[in-house]
Amino acid sequence: MTYRTVNPYTNELIKEYPFATDRDLESALSDSYSLYKKMKTQDLSERASILHNIAKYFRDHEDELGKICTVDMGKLFIESKGEVELCAIIADYFADHAGEFLKPEKIDTIATGEAEIQKHATGVIMTVEPWNFPYYQIMRVFAPNFMVGNPMILKDPSNTPASAQAFADAILAAGAPKGALTNLFLQYDQVTKAIEDFRVQGVALTGSERGGRSVAEAAGKNLKKSTMELGGVDPFIILEDANVEDVNNIAWRARLYNCGQVCTSSKRFIVSDKLYDQFVNKLIENFNKVKPGDPMDPATTLAPMNTEKAKNKLQSQLDDAIAHGAKVVYGNKRIDLPGQFFMPTILTNIDKNNPAYHEEMFGPIAQVYKVHSEQEAIDLANDSDLGLGGIVFGGDADHAAEVASQIETGMVFVNNFMSSLPELPFGGVKNSGYGREMSKIGQMAFVNEQLIVKANHPNLDNIAGGLVSIDPK
Ligand code: NAP
Repeated sequence: MTYRTVNPYTNELIKEYPFATDRDLESALSDSYSLYKKMKTQDLSERASILHNIAKYFRDHEDELGKICTVDMGKLFIESKGEVELCAIIADYFADHAGEFLKPEKIDTIATGEAEIQKHATGVIMTVEPWNFPYYQIMRVFAPNFMVGNPMILKDPSNTPASAQAFADAILAAGAPKGALTNLFLQYDQVTKAIEDFRVQGVALTGSERGGRSVAEAAGKNLKKSTMELGGVDPFIILEDANVEDVNNIAWRARLYNCGQVCTSSKRFIVSDKLYDQFVNKLIENFNKVKPGDPMDPATTLAPMNTEKAKNKLQSQLDDAIAHGAKVVYGNKRIDLPGQFFMPTILTNIDKNNPAYHEEMFGPIAQVYKVHSEQEAIDLANDSDLGLGGIVFGGDADHAAEVASQIETGMVFVNNFMSSLPELPFGGVKNSGYGREMSKIGQMAFVNEQLIVKANHPNLDNIAGGLVSIDPK
């Protein structure tokens, strides 16, 4: 593993970065821990003001930050800029709402005295993030933790080092104190070393099941609280009364946005037999319209994948799916451009014995399944080890929402594209991980919800249990 940027559009090696040393890690832990102690006494409004400055910095540097991200991992420049704006929205949101989320809460109790839960910082958070949203993923953890007073050490993926460093530099330039977020080009064993350290009290990872298992194991072994945001094979269910025009408008975008490299991309289209043929034909038509090319060019609508390795992995999954009986109804042809382009592809006839039925395909491949009843759609959606998100389209939104409630995932959107916003909790169930990021729930991920019960004098009558009946004489 080497930290380096290789532009996926030109295949040009842009820059390599040296690994962090153990001394760098120690110095980051020491700075972060001192800041943790210092922030305990700081007024929340000071951090809110810095976080607003960070939001402004991101907005003011949208083009510059957007370009770094596009060169690092290939996404369309317009999508990179959208991601920078989303970071600003998240920063503003936690700056505005953390005060209310972190207010002490009174509890009605029969205990003597007044009981309340106070919300305190816990320590340094070790954060491991993926390349597919090189800024947004970091901001999801940084903004709430900065507000509560948990500094963060970041291990970003080896293929987007420039974005990670740009994020860390932006935070400092916008006025965050040293140690609030330290980006280090760590090796895996150093991540474990950080997790073992007493100063680290939380571990947040977004990534694959493989990476998640390994980091969660280290967190568990060291009794550190963790959140795991892992992969998904999200269903897109089309009920027989769905508005066909809306479906056609959203379906191809839900699969091809970010070149299909989104944890919540719609990876399995589960379609009522009444609409199946029509849906497949329209999906082919829409996939056929995308234009591969330079991701910096506004006319381009299909970006390259993030690395050659990712493209080769997807091709081998596709070959395997075909070898096990899947039918290619569109795609699986070479795109004659030097970058890591993968032609959008549509697969049908995938049965349960096909590995593709169970695996996450992290790129522009849509699987389409025909079902003959609503129950069959629900059962198929739930027949997976993963449970991240999903979409249900139906003519009656209330009924579609009832179907959505039966899907075993952490998030389902009805009659719309899935979107990620700071007020909406993000996360999954089953092997898609545990915990939530964003929203009030995400704010509490690494908070010590400390109980304080305050009385003027003890009241022995009020003590529950046997102790009151013991007479010490
Ligand atoms: P990945 O290989 O697990 O990598 C994610 C991060 O974990 C990278 O920084 C990686 O570093 C690091 N990592 C992996 N193994 C590690 C280990 N043993 N110890 C320490 N760090 C380790 O995942 P990916 O392929 O880059 O990301 C795509 C996956 O993320 C997909 O499955 C996608 O669905 C999922 N994802 C989930 C969400 C969500 O919110 N649920 C959001 C986005 C993506 P290196 O790069 O150095 O290996």
